Amino acid sequence: MDLPRLLLIATGGTIAGAAPSADRTQGYRPGAVPVSALVDAVPALRGLARIEAEQPFAIGSQHMTGAHHLALVARIRAAQADPGLAGIVVTHGTDTLEESALLLDLACPRGVPVVLTGAMRPATAIGADGPMNLYAAAAVAVDPAARGAGALVLMNDQVFGPDRAAKVHTSRTDAFVARDGAALASILDGRPHWHLPAAEAATRRPSLLDRLTTLPTTLPRVDIVAQHVDADPAIVPFLLSRGARGLVLAGTGHGTVSDPMRDALSAAAATGCLVIRASRVANGPVTRNAGVDDDAGGFVAAGWLSPHKARLVASLALDAGLGRDAVQALVDGF
Ligand code: ASP
Repeated sequence: MDLPRLLLIATGGTIAGAAPSADRTQGYRPGAVPVSALVDAVPALRGLARIEAEQPFAIGSQHMTGAHHLALVARIRAAQADPGLAGIVVTHGTDTLEESALLLDLACPRGVPVVLTGAMRPATAIGADGPMNLYAAAAVAVDPAARGAGALVLMNDQVFGPDRAAKVHTSRTDAFVARDGAALASILDGRPHWHLPAAEAATRRPSLLDRLTTLPTTLPRVDIVAQHVDADPAIVPFLLSRGARGLVLAGTGHGTVSDPMRDALSAAAATGCLVIRASRVANGPVTRNAGVDDDAGGFVAAGWLSPHKARLVASLALDAGLGRDAVQALVDGF
């Protein structure tokens, strides 16, 4: 029987990390283990798919930039045009994995699934979680039920949608959850058991594919502004002076904001800057005109998006030429 073809794109992270000793789970070099060694560490992969592996970069994902993101989108779009390819797995550092997952979901076709995975323990650790995550990600990527699912996150025996996936622990292997939602699938005996039809879940998420047919060389700059006790609103004009075209407020509570910070953000919005009001709180939505007058401030309310996901959406939306109302409609789709 012909095995399905799987493209494995390695980008670094802890899954490819090497520590000085097997009991060390921090203080390792991320991205030190080449993709060939990742594959060789999981011989069962060869029984699942014909693997084609490549490694465009080998970095800790805290070093991801818009340039890395655009390179990934371009590579994955090209791969998805190959009719013989069953699925794609991207190994990625966990720190910004959820941002890259949402980016790929928004900017790439959703036919050939893209499964992002990583690890919380380096490859050299006792009980490294990377090999099983890699195997399970491959099993998801080549599962016919994943066709049309867009980008997914596989961590610790669970599959999450890119809109909901969130890293909520700095070190444990159960670091990821579905923020305000449920896992799409659980892995049992190395195979996904779908709780929700993945392709149907994808149809409920917005896509920007049609608006981003030609990829730019750089993405518009969008920064995050944090609200906290004594937050200084002078950060807002400073970021504008640095070229920010969008700002996302990581507000307190339900996206609340001090009066001086609100005024600074409103002044920014009045100059044409896209301002999205989100919350630093881990769960729950920020609803329009609830507590803060978004109409008066010229703000978009982030809904269910975390500040860093709202930042990514804002950058893509600005590149696609969407105005404030269109961005609100886009955000409301999550
Ligand atoms: N700092 C690492 C990274 O994001 C953490 C990890 O991969 O778990 O690349």
